[in-house]
Amino acid sequence: MENNTETPAVRTNFIHELIDRDNASGRFQGRVHTRFPPEPNGYLHIGHATSIILNSGIAKHYGGKFNLRFDDTNPSKEEQEYVDSIIEDVRWLGGEFEDRLFFASDYFQRMYDWAVELIKKGKAYVCDLTPDQVREHRGAPGEPGKDSPYRNRSAEENLDLFERMRKGEFPDGSRTLRAKIDMAHPNLNMRDPVMYRILHAEHHRQGKKWCVYPMYDWAHGLEDSIEGITHSICTLEFEDHRPLYDWYLDQLGVYHPQQIEFARRTLGNTITSKRKLLELVKDGHVEGWDDPRMPTVSGLRRRGYTASSLRAFCDEVGISRVPGVSDIWVLENALRGELNRTAPRAMAVLRPLKVVLTNYPEDKSEEMEAVNNPEDASAGTRKVPFCREIYIERDDFMEVPAKKFFRMTPGQEVRLRAAYIVKCEKVVKDAAGAVTEVHCSYDPATRGGDAPDGRKIKGTIHWVSARHALPARVRLYDALFTVRDPEAVPEGHDYKENLNPSSLETLDGAMLEPSLKDAAPGSRFQFERLGYFFADPKDSRPGAPVFNRTVTLKDSWAKLEKKQ
Ligand code: ATP
Ligand code: MG
Repeated sequence: MENNTETPAVRTNFIHELIDRDNASGRFQGRVHTRFPPEPNGYLHIGHATSIILNSGIAKHYGGKFNLRFDDTNPSKEEQEYVDSIIEDVRWLGGEFEDRLFFASDYFQRMYDWAVELIKKGKAYVCDLTPDQVREHRGAPGEPGKDSPYRNRSAEENLDLFERMRKGEFPDGSRTLRAKIDMAHPNLNMRDPVMYRILHAEHHRQGKKWCVYPMYDWAHGLEDSIEGITHSICTLEFEDHRPLYDWYLDQLGVYHPQQIEFARRTLGNTITSKRKLLELVKDGHVEGWDDPRMPTVSGLRRRGYTASSLRAFCDEVGISRVPGVSDIWVLENALRGELNRTAPRAMAVLRPLKVVLTNYPEDKSEEMEAVNNPEDASAGTRKVPFCREIYIERDDFMEVPAKKFFRMTPGQEVRLRAAYIVKCEKVVKDAAGAVTEVHCSYDPATRGGDAPDGRKIKGTIHWVSARHALPARVRLYDALFTVRDPEAVPEGHDYKENLNPSSLETLDGAMLEPSLKDAAPGSRFQFERLGYFFADPKDSRPGAPVFNRTVTLKDSWAKLEKKQ
């Protein structure tokens, strides 16, 4: 795969300090072993990328190991498509799990046996309360709950009932297995939490083998323990679950990893709820999970982001225990820095306006020499054909110039990048008064773009030879949502009302310099003055390119924020 070589130096964070402490005390014999535990119920998004980069980065930093483990304990929403996409995304992000790809469902038997052990120890019981009753009995913060009437069943009765639960004798929701902890515990998670529920559902890997499924809190610590994870890093909402994570492992007396929490990081003007992302896909607001506007890893990849830029972004933003929203420009800047160094330059005209150089011979053409990357001399130069008729960007012409408009306007000289200095002499219009063509003279003494007499030319614009131009489709993107926090909507309103109606603009008449004819799908260029573009890996073909604009050259967010 691409772009996985450039790993930014890992900035240390509070998690490193905790690990250093454990290493100093010899708690895990100096081992460091992390994991990323996604539920295969959607595609990964930028928030998940943070977690993958953090966990795999820590493993790399300490010479440890990193596991990819599917937390597939919930049968109803999980699909193979998600499993496949997650594996691809984790690899692409540089999460090196080698042969350590695991599925929590493979541990179901061991978890079941451990549950039996807790029952035997008098630490778990089968409860016949309905889910609603369980909730009612739980109490509230500062207010103790009530013991279940089934709490004091004998171990024999519990073992019998639990086995029959497993055999499928009881309907969904009729019974649960609960841990016997303390219904007056100040932490509600410790009030006899449910360990197993009955669910007659088909599992994507286990088929119909199971009809009791473990709850997250019960399962997760056991998964970590089985895999020998040392530091189980998760997001802040699990902080209140840590006592339960510890309790289960302590009761069983098995190997005990350390859970560490950090704050979720979200991105402005996007959403990172899997349920809502799925809704955008299902309802056709975007073209799929990998639509280049999506904050999914596959969407960012198809937009043209590199894995190394996402790592640089994570490093820039850092890890903390305080939740935060990062602006998209921080992400974009992480990419600009990299592409400025690596992306070859090319000329493309997105909205063409024809320019005729009236004093340039009709049948002549020349090869102009253009620099491939001013940041990288080793990238060399290329030949760009030039002739009497060229295209320039419509925006680069104004018949009545605005103040400080130094581009093409009647009577003013302007430089065509790497070609000549030209001057607009005449404007051709159609019956409706729209400009259809501009006639210029060119100065043959300025080949390459510089005037031998040293006269100052303020503006430089890009161009494409009309005779040699390669027509292409170019897609321009804006933020998917018009507001920074799309989910903050008043009652009775929906986050989808914040969708940006002009997040995608497709230009079918773009003209590219002919060297782009063979641009490989998945390659990146800087189109001079327009931004960084990515040859779409699905839609682009040699000879018929389709380019996605990954990011503009400069930050345009200040402008957008003003609009809001
Ligand atoms: P849900 O569980 O509601 O489907 P989720 O986003 O928590 O959604 P998981 O598949 O459980 O999805 O997440 C896998 C891992 O990614 C978890 O360890 C989770 O803590 C982490 N994660 C999810 N979202 C973020 C985020 N925005 N920032 C950092 N880590 C995240
Ligand atoms: Mg989750």
